[in-house]
Amino acid sequence: MHELAVTCSIVRHVVRAARGRTVRAITLEIGQLCGVRPEGVAFCFPEIARGTSAAAARLDIRRIAGRGYCESCHSEVPIAERTAPCPCGSSRVHTVAGEELTLKSIAFEYIP
Ligand SMILES: [Zn+2]
Repeated sequence: MHELAVTCSIVRHVVRAARGRTVRAITLEIGQLCGVRPEGVAFCFPEIARGTSAAAARLDIRRIAGRGYCESCHSEVPIAERTAPCPCGSSRVHTVAGEELTLKSIAFEYIP
């Protein structure tokens, strides 16, 4: 399961960045076209974070819609998959959004 490996990698990264601090919240941006299902990450997260400094963290996942730019009609169109054609019929569409998988922010517990 792809999401399992991705979630492992995210938790590892977050825990390393926390350097022993408790992690309060994690914000991820997952593009519709990046091949990782947000539900899968949300499902795996509690199990993978268990026993780490991120165990109690709130996981916020923002979904980024797929968008493409059509070189035939010069417009930006929503696309549900990378190879989707433009509504004008052209397949000369290149992706401009939705391929990202970004660890946007990590909030740590405040230690005075
Ligand atoms: Zn077009």
